[in-house]
Amino acid sequence: MPALHFDNAFLRELPGDPDTAPGVRQVHGALWSRVEPAPVAAPRLLAHSREVAQRLGFDAAAVASPEFAAVFGGNALLPGMAPFAANYGGHQFGHWAGQLGDGRAITLGEAVAADGSRHELQLKGAGPTPYSRHADGRAVLRSSIREFLCSEAMRHLGVPTTRALSLVATGDQVVRDMFYDGHPRAEPGAVVCRVAPSFLRFGSFELPASRGEAELLRQLAEFCIWRDFPELLPGPAGKSPDALRAAGAFTEAVFGDWFARVCERTAVTVAHWMRVGFVHGVLNTDNMSILGLTIDYGPYGWIDDYDPDWTPNTTDAQGRRYRFGWQPKVAHWNLVRLAHALSPLFAGAQPLQDGLDRFAAAYERAERENTARKLGLAECRDGDVELVQDLHGLMKTAEIDMTLWFRGLADLDARAPALAPMDAAFYDDARRRDAEPALLAWLGRYATRLRDDPLSPRARRERMHAANPRFVLRNYLAQQAIDRAEQGDESGVVELLDVMRRPYDEQPGREALAQKRPDWARERAGCSMLSCSS
Ligand code: AMP
Ligand code: MG
Repeated sequence: MPALHFDNAFLRELPGDPDTAPGVRQVHGALWSRVEPAPVAAPRLLAHSREVAQRLGFDAAAVASPEFAAVFGGNALLPGMAPFAANYGGHQFGHWAGQLGDGRAITLGEAVAADGSRHELQLKGAGPTPYSRHADGRAVLRSSIREFLCSEAMRHLGVPTTRALSLVATGDQVVRDMFYDGHPRAEPGAVVCRVAPSFLRFGSFELPASRGEAELLRQLAEFCIWRDFPELLPGPAGKSPDALRAAGAFTEAVFGDWFARVCERTAVTVAHWMRVGFVHGVLNTDNMSILGLTIDYGPYGWIDDYDPDWTPNTTDAQGRRYRFGWQPKVAHWNLVRLAHALSPLFAGAQPLQDGLDRFAAAYERAERENTARKLGLAECRDGDVELVQDLHGLMKTAEIDMTLWFRGLADLDARAPALAPMDAAFYDDARRRDAEPALLAWLGRYATRLRDDPLSPRARRERMHAANPRFVLRNYLAQQAIDRAEQGDESGVVELLDVMRRPYDEQPGREALAQKRPDWARERAGCSMLSCSS
């Protein structure tokens, strides 16, 4: 194994829990608790991301070594690692939930790569922590596969996200009541090593704010700017947060810029979700990254037939708060919660309001960019937003597959618009028949618009192919890989990971993985809906 260089700044710079004994507790005045991963029976590496491994300096031999599975399954530590669980709170489904914290995630350390980039390595499912509340700190194989695959798929789609280094089977069983209906069963357990420059969440700031721990809040905000947003600070890097504070670097203007950046990054990420058809499923404030990364892949899902009201999360089936079409407004709601938490850092509310306004502006900009890219236009004009909104309405009524439609649309002949290139995108013949006149009328409008656009047909097609993926991690595909992995065959996971590395390429021979959802998957658990049980 190569020697990794660790710089465990979070532990060094911020106050921790003086109590190091095991046991669930409320932790006040501290942002982390030291805790070791709990050993597992027989760690076995099922899959890894070669890009993440490379970035960290692990070559093929290191990845294949038993030591790698031992470390990333939770049975061993590398020199320089200093494991801990982070303390944070959050608003869950619209309500303040108090202290949550890493109940089953354990950070091993902050690795600094050869190029100076920082990578927090975090095991998910590594055993109990002081924040495990009533749960066991473990994760089942099915949810670990979903997190592992989706982190990497999102990255290759160009969506800001936490990443995944490895997926390790533990050899232990984990008991879960998947439908919360009194039928628990033992399932294989697994551990994913997630990787991100920072795992700070909105809830990391909300917790000290909710407890009136103003000094702790300020320290955390300064730390976050110093480590995760250094571009906001004047002068040469290399000073500690304390030295910067003493020099008066953390002005209200810096805090204001920081919050505005968080708002903008969040807007950009959510706009990407809307572009590729991703539904996060649990947009609680503890699942909102301060870096605007997609974080915490639980009961997420991918849009098959276009439906802005769809949520994959069975726990959310009633209110459907986290439905596809509501994600922008939910993200804004979450930013308002963050703004409240940060208000002690400001004399008045204006800088925070300005930041929130930046969310709206950035989202609108990104949405217009999406419109132009998805429709293959050189630029987005005002009428184009309406054009795409009308299309969305038709896609819903006609039950049209989002991914296949936009991919097919790139093959439209603007001189003779027809539905033929989108044939594969329809789920229901009767609905198609009913909607056909309206769809043809829409294609006519679109063709007229294209004739007024400077891009050549070839340039348009390329632009569309770069924004409309051919392959997305459809829910049923992930489920098929899970079914096989639970039988001991992880090749489906490895194959899906490989396909998702080039989602915008045609990849001849892999047509089967670009098909719309088959009928059998319409109502099957894991394919159309997911519970939070993981
Ligand atoms: P999530 O909805 O997955 O973001 O989790 C919400 C909270 O529950 C976080 O504090 C998690 O760490 C915690 N949690 C979820 N599953 C478990 C588990 N199996 N063991 C311990 N804590 C958990
Ligand atoms: Mg979470």
